[in-house]
Amino acid sequence: MVECGQPVRHSQMKIAFVTAEHALFVKVGGLADVAASLPPQFAAAGHAVRVYVPYYAQVASNLHLAWDTKHFVTVRAAGRVFHVGLFHHVTSAGVDVYLMRYDELFGRGGVYGEGNRGYEDNLLRFAVFQQAVVEHFAVDEWFPDILHFHDWHTALLPAYCAARGELDRRYGAIKQVFTIHNLGYQGVFDPSQYWVLNLPGHFYHQDWVEHFGAINCMKCALMQAHYLTTVSPTYAKEIQTPALGFGFDGILRARQHELKGILNGIDTEVWDPATDVYLPAHYTAVNATGKARCKQVLLKAMGLHTRPGLPLCGVVARLTEQKGIDLIIAIMDEIVRAGARVVMLGSGEQWMEEALRGCAARHPGNVAVRIGFDERLAHLIEAGADIFLMPSRFEPCGLNQMYSMRYGTLPVVHRTGGLADTVVDANDETLRLGTATGFVIDEPTTRALLEKIQFALALYEDRATWRRMRRAAMQTDFSWEKSARGYLQVFEQLVQR
Ligand code: ADP
Repeated sequence: MVECGQPVRHSQMKIAFVTAEHALFVKVGGLADVAASLPPQFAAAGHAVRVYVPYYAQVASNLHLAWDTKHFVTVRAAGRVFHVGLFHHVTSAGVDVYLMRYDELFGRGGVYGEGNRGYEDNLLRFAVFQQAVVEHFAVDEWFPDILHFHDWHTALLPAYCAARGELDRRYGAIKQVFTIHNLGYQGVFDPSQYWVLNLPGHFYHQDWVEHFGAINCMKCALMQAHYLTTVSPTYAKEIQTPALGFGFDGILRARQHELKGILNGIDTEVWDPATDVYLPAHYTAVNATGKARCKQVLLKAMGLHTRPGLPLCGVVARLTEQKGIDLIIAIMDEIVRAGARVVMLGSGEQWMEEALRGCAARHPGNVAVRIGFDERLAHLIEAGADIFLMPSRFEPCGLNQMYSMRYGTLPVVHRTGGLADTVVDANDETLRLGTATGFVIDEPTTRALLEKIQFALALYEDRATWRRMRRAAMQTDFSWEKSARGYLQVFEQLVQR
């Protein structure tokens, strides 16, 4: 096994990256960012990369999208024939993106569904998409060395390659790497829908798509992909336990030698306090004076006391129990009593929204809450706060703790998933070594969280130590280059096998 960080010489590989989201065209969650950020890194390393994504209604009409010369691929599903349109777009980073267009399936208001309901025909939608991808390899006579695919929407690709491979041996040579972004969504459907898939009957088997009497798309990839990855090393371990394995911990334990956690990066151009277009002042790890100005602007904008010297805690999150927002609500009075002000931005569960409004009403000038989604305010909070609270119960990777470190806003996090892998807890040793970048609790409890916040607030008074921590946090490398190296090492090993 090649260790991360070691220089590796890659011969050129052909990489097909198949995803249901891409930030250039459509975004629901972090998968979209990964799809927009990783392929350019592969291309920059000299590999031939093609990205495949459905052509949703949200695909911006002002983008110049050329028809592919081969116009259509034809696939079958649910007893019907689908002529799927092909659009080709070259991104500014020089990556070839193929958008698969079939408006009846993808030209809708939502990506996976609308409101809280998934589309009833999601199995058909993604069956058509995946088959169209597989078919395009043959139509274009472009067979990848590596098929890199993501989450349940693409998890049937091993079955479609195997089915297609019975007639065409070139499919058998493709090495398959499946990345788990969220094990909680598995694509589970009633077995009565199996006919929709256009797969031979023998794939309805526990080694392929069958799981406890149902179709489970995720299972197909977990069983059949040549290699599995997920988005942080700690989450890779956690999903092998019953607590976070969502019923697949046994399979993942059995495949632990073909399972690797590779941390996501962040977009260090968009999230750069030296240039961030949303900020009223800019700053760097070496000269952080602009941060104080951001704090003043934030305090004023949110109607908080502007007396300097008082620490400010920030939160930007979906308001869910996963994110530990209930823990913050429960200790809000104590946080204020300890001398901090709190600014929160988010939306989600209704009871949390109401409870947070209650906190703000109880502590005018000390607690401010904005319910909703606000990109500009999210950037301003990352820059203007001193401490960022993110006590998630579980977190496959997490972005906000990385944004906050890059902005010199030291995070308080729970030791789980990507939080455990990115934040170095301030203790005697790490403070002495100058490696501390935040504060880490071992259990997601109100008591542990409050004690850690109180510890952080005490340390905040030690200005020299705080500045040192802030600099270490801001200088941490969260670039995508590092992630890409991890993936390319996996690809290289598979191709050489
Ligand atoms: P998750 O994907 O589980 O929600 P992450 O920390 O990985 O959590 O990513 C959340 C992303 O969404 C971050 O970019 C964060 O800044 C952004 N975000 C979440 N809630 C809001 C909000 N209310 N307004 C603006 N941005 C938000």
